[in-house]
Amino acid sequence: MSDCLFCKIASGEIPATLVHEDDACVAFNDISPQAPIHILIIPRVHIDSLDKTAAGDAALMGHLLTAAADIARKNGFAENGYRVVINTNADGGQTVFHLHVHLLAGRTFVFPPG
Ligand code: AMP
Ligand code: ZN
Repeated sequence: MSDCLFCKIASGEIPATLVHEDDACVAFNDISPQAPIHILIIPRVHIDSLDKTAAGDAALMGHLLTAAADIARKNGFAENGYRVVINTNADGGQTVFHLHVHLLAGRTFVFPPG
């Protein structure tokens, strides 16, 4: 999608601090971190939200989650723990409509979230 912020980050048109990239996804630091570690993992292809995924996206969605786990292990916070969040549509708190996985760590999280 031509006017999408996260598509522009994935293509390098808008800068971000990348922590991981591969053929299918890009991961970068959130510009407004909600925890000491706050990374966003996005697919290179544009998908508006989790609500727009279908069975054909199953491998890609699995890839985003295993990328999150790999990033956590490689950066040394897997053992302490972390939280993975996908805000979806208005009630889910989604503000950027390019599907993304939040990977948060470095503090203790409460459940349920607000
Ligand atoms: P959400 O509310 O789930 O849609 O999350 C969108 C996230 O994108 C928020 O945590 C924002 O802080 C983050 N964000 C917005 N613009 C940028 C940017 N240019 N670089 C990195 N993160 C961003
Ligand atoms: Zn996009």
